[in-house]
Amino acid sequence: MPSDCLFCRIIAGELPSAQIYSDDTVVAIRDISPQAPTHILLLSRTHVGSVREIGTADHDLIGKIFAAGTELATREGIAEDGYRLVVNVGRHGGQTVDHLHVHLLGGRQMAWPPG
Ligand code: AMP
Ligand code: ZN
Repeated sequence: MPSDCLFCRIIAGELPSAQIYSDDTVVAIRDISPQAPTHILLLSRTHVGSVREIGTADHDLIGKIFAAGTELATREGIAEDGYRLVVNVGRHGGQTVDHLHVHLLGGRQMAWPPG
C-alpha cells in the first residue's frame, strides 16, 4: 500500500472515517464533504490509482464495487427515487484522490449536464 495514499490510510485504520460497509474487496465511507444528503465513497480495498489503471484482472473488482453501491443505495432508502454513481478520472475528470473510488450520491434531484 502506498504510505502516502489518503484512502489506503483510511482503509488501514490509520486515519478516521465514517465507515458504513466493508468486505474483502470494497470499503464504503461517508464523504467528508457531502454533495448530497447521501454521499458515500465506494473504495477499492487494494490500491488502484484510477480507472485508467484497471485491467482485465480488475473486472471482478469493478463489478463488486457497483454491487456494493446497489446494496447501499437500498439500505440508504434512495434506490427507488434513484441516485447517481460517479467516477472522476484524472485532472479534467476532477479526480482529487488517486485511489480508485466510486461516488454514490442521492437524496435529491441531480442535474444534467454535470459541471
Ligand atoms: P474525487 O474528487 O473524485 O477524487 O473524490 C475524492 C473525495 O474524497 C471528495 O469528494 C472528498 O470530499 C473526499 N474526501 C477527501 N478526504 C476525505 C476523508 N478524509 N474522508 C472522507 N472523504 C474524503
Ligand atoms: Zn490507495
